[in-house]
Amino acid sequence: MRIEQELKLGFKDVLFRPKRSTLKSRSQVNLTREFTFKHSGRQWSGVPVIAANMDSVGTFDMATALAAHNVMTAVHKHYTVEQWADFVKQADANTLNKVMVSTGTSDRDFDKIQQILALSDELIFVCIDIANGYSEHLVEFVERVRAAFPDKVISAGNVVTGDMVEELILAGADIVKVGIGPGSVCTTRVKTGVGYPQLSAIIECADAAHGLGGRIIGDGGCACPGDVSKAFGGGADFVMLGGMLAAHTESGGELVEKDGKTFMKFYGMSSESAMAKHSGGVAKYRAAEGKTVVLPYRGSVENTIQDVLGGVRSTCTYVGAEHLKELTKRTTFIRVQEQENNVYGKE
Ligand code: 5GP
Repeated sequence: MRIEQELKLGFKDVLFRPKRSTLKSRSQVNLTREFTFKHSGRQWSGVPVIAANMDSVGTFDMATALAAHNVMTAVHKHYTVEQWADFVKQADANTLNKVMVSTGTSDRDFDKIQQILALSDELIFVCIDIANGYSEHLVEFVERVRAAFPDKVISAGNVVTGDMVEELILAGADIVKVGIGPGSVCTTRVKTGVGYPQLSAIIECADAAHGLGGRIIGDGGCACPGDVSKAFGGGADFVMLGGMLAAHTESGGELVEKDGKTFMKFYGMSSESAMAKHSGGVAKYRAAEGKTVVLPYRGSVENTIQDVLGGVRSTCTYVGAEHLKELTKRTTFIRVQEQENNVYGKE
């Protein structure tokens, strides 16, 4: 047994220190980033926020709505090839360019992504996603997908430490997805005791990835726009959001009426709800590592995404970053023991 003594940080442990800035208004801030990806050599530009590949977040409707803001969607892996074919037929090129095709790591998954990617050359992102990215099996799958699709942008995860980020990038991933346990409907830390505070995971993994010319996605744990900024400030190239984008019209979740109010169901992809829907129940050898919640229904995602992007723009003005790219260079985090004042309740 060994203990690492260094304190690891979550979003709630820090705030940005404001810096002198010449920016007069949030409107002067540019959130668009341009990347050239390491293995695929693809150039891409857009706003690097991603709707998570969860049942009631990463939907086709979400992809269409968010692409209007140049924001990305990792489309969940439970659509059929036929549904993808219909989507590809009606979506414009910009929407397809902002979409990730999610996949697991089985042979069937491999066949399915081959069929989906064959539908359009405009589909350039593959998101290989398993809960425990430390499995050797993930590395082998990344090598297999890289060999089959040399010019697609491959994201793989989830991991939380630099050693595994490097291994996945060397295996062919352009982007590594970072986060174990921080998610709003995740119970991994409760069920297994495994995890890593998300801001430290981002800081350490970004450093490892950038050293090799790779990129990372900070995935999970953002509860407000300020957390999204902190993820970018810590060095995340992309930030993935689940709960913050759930319970909207575009999320397509099940609506529930209670006391005259409308709510929408939202559940983790390893929850009993998800396993009942997609795999016929929780297998005997495993515990569900996600929960099911009902959230107040929030209508269109339009206001929410503007609120998120407006918050990040505002962070940039406070620290004098004219482009999102500069945010991490201009970030000084101060460690704190308080966040917002909740005397009149939470936002
Ligand atoms: P959020 O933005 O809601 O805090 O986090 C979203 C992320 O939580 C997802 O992108 C995914 O990585 C993770 N996640 C989704 N469902 C589950 C689950 O059932 N269990 C665990 N451990 N993580 C989940």
